[in-house]
Amino acid sequence: MANKKSKVLIIYTGGTIGMIQDPHTGELKPFDFNTLTGQIPELKKFDIDLSSISFKKPIDSSNMHPDVWIELVNMIKTNYNKVDGFVILHGSDTMSYTASALSFMLQNLNKPIVLTGSQLPIGIIRTDGKENLITAIEIAATKHKEQSVVKEVCIYFEYKLYRGNRTIKYNSQHFDAFKSPNYPALAEAGINIDYNSHALFKPEPGKTLVIHTKLDNDIAVLKLFPGISKKITQSILQTKGIKAVIMETFGAGNATTQAWFIEELQKTIERGVVVLNITQCLEGEVVQGKYETSSQLKRIGVIGGGDLTFEAAITKLMYLLGKGLKGKQLTKELQQNIAGELTVN
Ligand code: ASP
Repeated sequence: MANKKSKVLIIYTGGTIGMIQDPHTGELKPFDFNTLTGQIPELKKFDIDLSSISFKKPIDSSNMHPDVWIELVNMIKTNYNKVDGFVILHGSDTMSYTASALSFMLQNLNKPIVLTGSQLPIGIIRTDGKENLITAIEIAATKHKEQSVVKEVCIYFEYKLYRGNRTIKYNSQHFDAFKSPNYPALAEAGINIDYNSHALFKPEPGKTLVIHTKLDNDIAVLKLFPGISKKITQSILQTKGIKAVIMETFGAGNATTQAWFIEELQKTIERGVVVLNITQCLEGEVVQGKYETSSQLKRIGVIGGGDLTFEAAITKLMYLLGKGLKGKQLTKELQQNIAGELTVN
């Protein structure tokens, strides 16, 4: 049960949950936070001390940007010692990116940061937003022996709580919009909220919150497909100023063995650009060397990204490059588990 005195701060960034339909164009646009909470009288019945901050101009999450993540982290930092937990209302489209980024930017958390939103605006009678928001608040407030039960960045959506940096948005229509393909749910909400205590992140005791607000987005993405041309591959790998490439490969990390392809990758790595191999599969992991079609990648220094999601891979790279890491140190930290994002075998 939620502790009676728990304090929760809601940060409203935008997203469908707080949108209304423009009567002229029919488009969904964000509206202000007071109108949103006015739609949920149930919030007044909570034995939780609720406060809120809203972005001056709420956004559709397709306009999310690393600068906004920094703004969010600063809001959390300012309020960190004043509340027991945070709920971030956010559009579902890029929610997994934001949750992944925050998990690297806010380390050693001892309280929950729960992102939620909805597929239907809160003003619509069949909205999924009310349940999502009410349960997210309850999770953010829940303590056991004066300690927050959840101590990490997570996403609550349609009765499930997930580790944020393990999630992907996989359905644009269903209420059940998120999946955590390589990590179990942290909790399930039914009559009770059942926490999966084995799966919850256990921060090292005694460590205090560390905040990182430098992110570097000099990253290119090379998504392979049968028949990808040399010209396209070169134009991506030779992009001026890039420090890292995420290569989305087939199956367990496999790629074409054509000589020109391996040569282009090798030249890129020799220029000091890190190449991180993640799989196009939704579930499972990259194991370089399992097939002949990935052995060469390993030999030339492509880094295996294990079971990282794309969202976790890109934000982990932004964070590590933002720390100024290069070469061996960057390679080492990419392969380490920092915030529960990676299964290290
Ligand atoms: N386009 C919306 C957004 O991500 C979708 C949503 O909120 O679910 O902001």
